[in-house]
Amino acid sequence: MVEIQKIFMAKDGSAVFVCPSCGREKVFDARPFLDKNPRFDARCSCGAITPALLEFRKSFRKKVRLLGVCIVERTGQEYPIEVRDVSFEGVGFAMADKTVVPDIVVGDVVEVRFRLDNRAKSLVERRGEIRTLRGNFVGVELFPVAYDKELGGYLLGTSSHF
Ligand SMILES: [Zn+2]
Repeated sequence: MVEIQKIFMAKDGSAVFVCPSCGREKVFDARPFLDKNPRFDARCSCGAITPALLEFRKSFRKKVRLLGVCIVERTGQEYPIEVRDVSFEGVGFAMADKTVVPDIVVGDVVEVRFRLDNRAKSLVERRGEIRTLRGNFVGVELFPVAYDKELGGYLLGTSSHF
């Protein structure tokens, strides 16, 4: 079995594939892969074909200030929040009202809704699980979905507002 090569995409959308059999490096534009399956076979000029997986999720965490709400499924409570960072896999936020002590525990399933600050003011609605609680700051790991186009375009800077 040939091992799958993980390829990480840089912020500008480029990625580097290094052929495991000859060591040649190939820089390519990874953005066209975003809407497709990130699994593909990389063909090198030496003739080697290597199964590859494009990893663009972990590398993007964007600092933001976006208003939204967090709904806790266990209690039905809805809290106004200020989202501070977003990535493909998670959202970090603080209570919009700092005096509010939310009834949230690690492991709670929540729905987070917030609007992006792109021109379309796209609404992001995702479910996830509380993973960290640090004072006023809450970290949520988002449940995976098929590629999130709104968030993806936003994080990768391919949104129309740029
Ligand atoms: Zn090669």
